[in-house]
Amino acid sequence: CGIIGVTGVGPAVPRLIDSLKRLEYRGYDSAGVAVLVDGRIERRRAKGKIRELEAVLLAEPLAATIGIGHTRWATHGAPTTANAHPHKAGRVVLVHNGIIENFAELKAELALEGRIFESQTDTEVVAHLLDRALESANDPLVAFKGVLDRLTGAYALAVLIEGEDGLILGARRGSPLVVGWGEGEMYLGSDALAVGPFTTQISYLEEGDYVGIDRTGARMFDVDGHAVERAIVQVSASS
Ligand code: GLU
Repeated sequence: CGIIGVTGVGPAVPRLIDSLKRLEYRGYDSAGVAVLVDGRIERRRAKGKIRELEAVLLAEPLAATIGIGHTRWATHGAPTTANAHPHKAGRVVLVHNGIIENFAELKAELALEGRIFESQTDTEVVAHLLDRALESANDPLVAFKGVLDRLTGAYALAVLIEGEDGLILGARRGSPLVVGWGEGEMYLGSDALAVGPFTTQISYLEEGDYVGIDRTGARMFDVDGHAVERAIVQVSASS
């Protein structure tokens, strides 16, 4: 439903929570965040309101400068903590808006290789596909493109990878995703509102685009894998 990603030098988790609160108006049934701490994935999730997630974070705090967050509106799998995003597989953790229509066949293929699933979502297959692709790829963006080509349906994605400190991958098809440009900090969001607390400088990704951001900037590609640049537009501070 709502997506935010932050990569920079300041504390990421308070920003993720701030953004998720601004996305509450869209409606949701659960929420979660994932970060890299010393290069390792850490995750906190909760069913219900953002304040439930905040309570989990108060009990088990996360200090990090990179992270992703999500508010979920369940389409596949009940609104439980186990089905809440982010979803994790091996080195990969990600959040997703939309529906992966061919998830059942992908899940069957991955299960044959011994991969174990811990949710009923359509989303979790994407994490497994990327974790598998990273085993034989040097460039995470190349691995990511290979995974995107296997998905049918609609998605906006934000992804963290263990061992790729500072990097967030994003992609959009059928669900919107924006890149936010900050001062020594970069953002991904499901809309301008998501990154509104941090920046008014936005690039709207186009259909089929995928991107890698770090705190210094963005590498963007179109649906054919060609490097592209998308205009940076100034949105109003209130949006
Ligand atoms: N289809 C995914 C799920 O059910 C994502 C739903 C959403 O867009 O929040 O978990």
